[in-house]
Amino acid sequence: PDITTTNKRRRHNNTPSKGHRCAFCEGPHISDTCSNVKEWQERRKILEGKEYGPRCIHHRTQGHACRPKDCYYCGKKSHHSSICQIPDQ
Ligand SMILES: [Zn+2]
Ligand SMILES: [Zn+2]
Ligand SMILES: [Zn+2]
Repeated sequence: PDITTTNKRRRHNNTPSKGHRCAFCEGPHISDTCSNVKEWQERRKILEGKEYGPRCIHHRTQGHACRPKDCYYCGKKSHHSSICQIPDQ
């Protein structure tokens, strides 16, 4: 019996859980890694026109439990990591 056919493929880091949509372009990827809207200025602009605020960009995601975190990049509480300007500098 061939036991080497075990499916070892792991989900790519950029592939979100089912039903997740990018907050910026609605594409099937994690918002922070969005390649369609790269500039934080542009991202913030998009968030301003939506239902969610700058600290949590996933309000519309199904099953979302709102737990805003400090920014991953600069540690500030005023914005979500995906709209931090530090990674762009
Ligand atoms: Zn996107
Ligand atoms: Zn939320
Ligand atoms: Zn930041």
